[in-house]
Parts: sequence; structure tokens; C-alpha cells
Amino acid sequence: MRAETARLPAAARLTKLGMRIDPGSRTLSRRFSLLPALIGAAMLALAGVASAQSQGAVEASFQQWLAAKVVPDAKKAGVSQGTLNAALAGLTLDWKLPDLAPPGAPKGREEPQRQAEFSGPARYFNEAKLAGLTTAGRARTQQWSKTLSAIEKRYGVPASILVAIWGRESGYGAAKIPYPAIRTLATEAFMGARKASFYPELIAALQILEGDHIPLSEMRSSWAGALGQPQFMPTKYLTTAVDFDGDGRRDIWESVPDVLASIANYLKQNGWEPGVGWGVEVVLPAGVACSLEGPDQGKPLAQWEAMGIRTVDGKPLAGRNGRRIGHLMMPAGRHGPAFIVSKNFYILKTYNNSDLYALFIGHLADRIRGGGAIRGAWDDVGGFKRSDVRAMQERLTARGVDVGNVDGLVGYKTRIAIGEWQQANGRPDTCFPDAALLKAIR
Ligand code: CA
Repeated sequence: MRAETARLPAAARLTKLGMRIDPGSRTLSRRFSLLPALIGAAMLALAGVASAQSQGAVEASFQQWLAAKVVPDAKKAGVSQGTLNAALAGLTLDWKLPDLAPPGAPKGREEPQRQAEFSGPARYFNEAKLAGLTTAGRARTQQWSKTLSAIEKRYGVPASILVAIWGRESGYGAAKIPYPAIRTLATEAFMGARKASFYPELIAALQILEGDHIPLSEMRSSWAGALGQPQFMPTKYLTTAVDFDGDGRRDIWESVPDVLASIANYLKQNGWEPGVGWGVEVVLPAGVACSLEGPDQGKPLAQWEAMGIRTVDGKPLAGRNGRRIGHLMMPAGRHGPAFIVSKNFYILKTYNNSDLYALFIGHLADRIRGGGAIRGAWDDVGGFKRSDVRAMQERLTARGVDVGNVDGLVGYKTRIAIGEWQQANGRPDTCFPDAALLKAIR
């Protein structure tokens, strides 16, 4: 539904942004600190005036854009003049949002996060955070047991999965959802680095105001425009949110039944198969190649079992369902735990396209139902940068190897490519990068 990287603004990025669009900020003051105080102050004052003028000019073209483009497009989508008046009156740009590319700003800089230290998967599974979400999740499961049973019956998605997503996305509704959605989406659609993808979201948000009777003041989002407790983008809300408490409003901000049923409807629409678990932790024998992982290499459970794979409890995988398809999933290669997952694992990835996210949800759901911690240890993988991973991905891509997105992140295609390179070069396979390997892969 939205990239995991779109969740939190990087502090470094905000700093850079401040330097670019707010020349009176501390960052610029420091740059001029070696100049005589008087000259420095004069230059800062000049910079401030220039900035105020250019920001004013941008605000003016924003108003023109609202009137000439947004209003007609919204009306075509069925939004009334009254709703538009209420939503757009006095609307200004939010210059503090991350990921902006205002008119006239320099372009083509390296994204700061690519230079960031690579952070291994272990950090995603912080035990204190998991334990806290588990305790709260069990309490919420009890509190909402009747509602959850009714939702599970209607949509076929287990209560524990719904509660886990609710916990992960908004801390069971406790997380602040700080931004007014219309202002945020309008700013990103007008001058965001990815403005084309935000424009339909702005129009959709106006349609929500029109058709769903959600008050403007209640319609809040993340900085990236994700709405309410399930964190739906507005287009997704329009096709997916449901009114489960029957008050006539699809209120994913305040109504817990609407929140949980909307999440269930999302997973059902994307193909959740009732009665099938997401997956199970396994022990992978040394003789089974880690490069056999991923959604494109499913095998019947009986076949995985014949290769010597058992659950961490030593139990057989298949039972009576030997023909059911399972996929090997190793988010840290041999540097972390291994799983055999079902199609439903990949349905969880439609909520957020990350193996770690889907595993977090599946695991938290198991914990909420009384399960224990992941048994396999996560090695502390690191000591290199995302740009190092990216450079390796570029070299492999140039040789015709499919590594997936060349983004410095280690998705399953990159892991498989690494494992196959290791096998071809007579090395033990790990299916995960380390500092020496990143230099060796040419
Ligand atoms: Ca409702």
C-alpha cells in the first residue's frame, strides 16, 4: 500500500530541507559564522527577504493551481463546491514536510538515506517493543472479542492478524496521527518529490470529505498522507474502508470496529485465504540452498519436508496438507531465522511491501495467541553502507542478474542473487551481504 521507507522522515533529510528552504535557519547561520558579524547579519537578512519573496511566489502559484486544476478535477470526481470551499479556504503549503522539491530548488542531490549505514533486520524485531505490543494486543483482543469474531466470520481473516496490524500501524489507536490530511496531501501533490503519485490521493481525500461525512478537522494523516488507524492512502480508503459499526460513516480514525473491519476487508480483497496460517519458523539443513527462497520458488510442503526441513519444534511441516504450497523465507539469509510461509504471508506484504513487515505481523499475531519468541538468532550484520549494497546491485544488474529494485535494500531477489553468486564461486552460501562479500562480488 505504501513503501516502508515512506513511514518516517529521516532527521538528516529534514536538516537538508531546512537548509534549502529556510535560509534563516541555524544551519545557514553556522555556515556564515566565520564572517564578520555585521556582514553575516546583513547577508542573512538579505537571504531572509529573498526567501520570503520566493516562498510567497510559490504560495501564490499554489493558490492558482488549486483554483485552475484541483477544483475542476475534484468537481469532475463528484466533490461539491461547498465541500471544496470548506477544504480549501485559507489553505497554505506546509513547508516543514519532508520529501519536498519546491519550484526553483536545486535538484539531483544524492538522497541522504542512501549514504546511511546499512541496518540489519535484527533491529526490526526489538524484543521490548514486541513484548509491549503483545501484552496490549491480548488485552485488546479480549476487549473487542465479539466484534473481532463477527469480523473474522465475515471476512475470513483471523482476529490475531487484524489486531497485530492495528498494533503495528497505530499502537492500537494510541499513536498520534498528527497532520491535517488535506494540507499534507495538497503540499505533497503540489511540490513533493513524488507529486504525481500524490495528486490522485488529494482528489480522493476530497471525495472522502464529500461522501463519507468525515469532518475536515477529524481527517488526519501521517506526513505521507496515510489516513487514520489502519494508515490507508485515500484511494485505498475509497475502495476498501468499511462501516462496521453501522453509523453510516467509514470512520477509520475513531471507530475500532471500522478500523478492524477495514483492515480485514483490505486483506480479503487482496486474496487472503481463510483457514491457512501465515507460516512457521523452521530449521534449514546446511545442505539446502538458501537461494531457494522467495515467492517464485514455492514447493509442496511434502517436498520441503523430504529435503529435511522441520519446524523449530522438530515437528513435520505438512501433516495432512503435503500438497499445499510453501515458500522458504529467510529475511537475513543464513544470518537469521528461516521460515516456511504460505501465500497469506505474501498477502500481508500487500499491506506493506517488506518481508520484515509481513514477518513482524505474522509473528506478533502468533505471540498475541500465546506463541513464544522467534528461536533463531539474528546475527549483527553491518559495517557497510546502503550505497555499498547499491553499488553491488548495480554491478550484478549490469551482468544481467535480477536483483529486484536497485535501492540499497536487501529484498529476496538480492538475497537469491548473492546466494547464487556464492554457489557459483565455490563459497558457502549465506544469501546476505557482508562487508567482504560486497567487495568480492564483481
Ligand atoms: Ca462507522
